Amino acid sequence: MIYLDHAATVPMTKESLRVMEQAMENIYGNASASYAPAARARTLLDQSREILAEGIGADFSEVYFTSGGTEGDNWALLAGMDAMKDAGKPGLVTSSIEHHAVLHTADYLEAHGTPVIKLPVNREGLVSPDALDRTLSQHPETGLVSIMWANNEVGTIEPIKELAAVAKAHGCLFHTDAVQAYGKLKIDLREVPADLLCVSAHKIGGPKGIGFLFIRKGVSIGSLLHGGEQERGRRAGTENVPAAAGFAAAFEEVSRNEDIRNKTVGSLQLYFRDQLEKTFGSSMCWNGPEPGKHRLPGNLSISFPGLQARSILMNLDLAGICASAGSACTTGLQTPSHVILAMTGDPDRAQGTIRFTLGPENTRGEIDTVCCVLKQTITRLDSLSKS
Ligand code: PLP
Repeated sequence: MIYLDHAATVPMTKESLRVMEQAMENIYGNASASYAPAARARTLLDQSREILAEGIGADFSEVYFTSGGTEGDNWALLAGMDAMKDAGKPGLVTSSIEHHAVLHTADYLEAHGTPVIKLPVNREGLVSPDALDRTLSQHPETGLVSIMWANNEVGTIEPIKELAAVAKAHGCLFHTDAVQAYGKLKIDLREVPADLLCVSAHKIGGPKGIGFLFIRKGVSIGSLLHGGEQERGRRAGTENVPAAAGFAAAFEEVSRNEDIRNKTVGSLQLYFRDQLEKTFGSSMCWNGPEPGKHRLPGNLSISFPGLQARSILMNLDLAGICASAGSACTTGLQTPSHVILAMTGDPDRAQGTIRFTLGPENTRGEIDTVCCVLKQTITRLDSLSKS
């Protein structure tokens, strides 16, 4: 198997697995109970929270465990909008290239009466801080702005510090979905004035089903899940202590090796891009920014206009190659990528988009194999579509 879908998920790190196994076997107390075994669970949960908070320049008290990125986005948008509605600012501004966890939540809010604006992006997928500023001047009723830190399909890194500053200058809450940026880019919330930020453990080698929402001190939003008093009364449900410990272990490992990994993955990305250009020339479209400071290391997005991504992926799968069409959540559906559509306005291009996302264990040899299989696939599908 050649695994080139690291934006969808990555294998768990050895240390994360070890820590989780140990916690599941030995630390089974309910972290919210009052007897001694519970105290061990509470201590492990607190230590994990401390590590994760420090990793983003936040305070321990600002990190709330969730079930992952989807819950974090839902919580930020639904509770954030409730709070801002009460403050007389009932509008939401987001971008047209967000993950569906944001876009579908925005659609839900809109269907229930929230005014929603989805900002356009340029051909590289960048949201302009000036355009946000103009929109917020024209729509002073906006209460919450939600723009992702980095895009999951094309890897575009947004000017998040500037966007957050613009939102704050207009008296809005600012949320950012940092699921793809986390573990790859430096996130320091002492420098970026975001109020809310969510991440997910399984994108960095931790377990699936856990993440956190950062809620800045003083930001008063309610709960998404109601019930017990866990997470200081803000997120009900028995705490998943082994997963929190596995998450913190993965984060520590990833941050120790971040520079080396980014360098390795970045150089594979350049190599892959060169090989694709040599193999396909102008029959392929490159989506998003050039590899470099505006793009996540390891992300490649290409389109073959006129072809169906699903057919290409099926052929790759038969050859043992794992990739995706845009985001993993749309795999299996024939819907064109909303991200490519927003960037280019070209449905043919959006329909034929393939995303490869690399990890440090990938090799140039694997990339050569993929280019070869892809070439055979495209030639076959091209001739079929013409016959
Ligand atoms: N946001 C982004 C940008 C993502 O890439 C993903 C997952 O692909 C999510 C949110 C959802 O995260 P989770 O799988 O933890 O629910």
